[in-house]
Amino acid sequence: MSARATTSAVRTVLGDLDPADLGVCDAHDHLFLRSPRLPGEELDDPAAAAEVLRAFAAAGGRAFVQWTPAGMGRRADLLPELSRTTGVHLVAATGLHQAVHYDPADLERRYAGLAGFFVAELTTGLHGAPEGARAGLIKVAGDFHGLDAHTRRVMAAAAEAHHATGAPIAVHHELGTAAPDVLDLLCERHGVPPGRVILGHLNRHPDLRLQRELAPSGAFLALDGPSRAHHATDHHLFDTVAALVEAGRADQLLLGGDTTTRAARHAPGPTHLLTGLGPRLTRAFGPDLPHRLLTANPARAFAAEWRAAPDEGAADS
Ligand SMILES: [Zn+2]
Repeated sequence: MSARATTSAVRTVLGDLDPADLGVCDAHDHLFLRSPRLPGEELDDPAAAAEVLRAFAAAGGRAFVQWTPAGMGRRADLLPELSRTTGVHLVAATGLHQAVHYDPADLERRYAGLAGFFVAELTTGLHGAPEGARAGLIKVAGDFHGLDAHTRRVMAAAAEAHHATGAPIAVHHELGTAAPDVLDLLCERHGVPPGRVILGHLNRHPDLRLQRELAPSGAFLALDGPSRAHHATDHHLFDTVAALVEAGRADQLLLGGDTTTRAARHAPGPTHLLTGLGPRLTRAFGPDLPHRLLTANPARAFAAEWRAAPDEGAADS
C-alpha cells in the first residue's frame, strides 16, 4: 500500500477519531505516572484513574490527553479499557522525558533505535498494550533555560518520528523555560512545522512578553493548572490566558490540568478546567472562548495527517 495515504484524525487508544468528534478536551494531563523524582506520589491506581475520568465526564469532559511517555508507568495496558468503561476519549504518548526520570542503564538501552521505537508506538501499537492501542503524540522535554545532550537526542528522534508519521510533538518545559531553544532545535534545525509542536507549561514561567514573542511561530501554547504541585504558578494562569487572548492568540491556546502527583489529583483536579476556569473565561471573554480553548483548538492540535511507516501498512485496519 502507499505509505503516503493520509487521513486527518486524532489517534486515540481505541482508534482514529474524526477531530470534530473529540469534544471538550483536557489537553495535558496524567492518569498514570511514576518517577524516581516523585517518591510516594505515584499515580498508579486504576480505580483512582477511572474516578478522575468519570468526574471529568460528569462535568462535560469528553477527551483526555495523557502526556506520560514511555518508561514512566503510563499503563498503556489499561488505557483502552478505561476509555471504554468511562466513555472518555484517551490519547496516549510515546516519547521520553528528561534523563532524571529514568534509570541510567534503562536509558542507555532505550537510546538504540529511539526514533524507530517512537514510530512503532505511533503506527503499530504502544509497548505493553496487548490490544495494539497506538500513541497519538510524541512527548519530549527540555531543561531549565536550555537543552542538554539527552534532551537534544530525544528531540532529534522525535523530529524523525514526526516526519515518518505526522504525529504532533508535545514539549515539557522545565519551569516553563527554554521554549525558544526548543523551537530552534525542533523547527529550525529538524524541520518540524511549528504548528505541529505543542509548547507545554508556559504559564510556569509567566514572562508574558516572551510568550507573545513565541506565539508568531504558530506553535500551540499549552497552559496548565491548577495544581497543588505547582501552586506558585497558578496565580498567573488566568492572566496568562488573558494576555494571549488579548494578543490575538486564542486559536493557539490549550488548557490542561497536568495533575502529576497524588496530592495534585485531589479536588478540584482536571474538572476545574470546566467548572472553575471555563466559567471565568466566559465571564471575561464571552461563551465562545472556552469552546475554542477546550474543544476547537485541541481538535486541531492533536489531529494529524497520519502516515503509516513504509513497512507497517498493516497497522491500519
Ligand atoms: Zn505533564
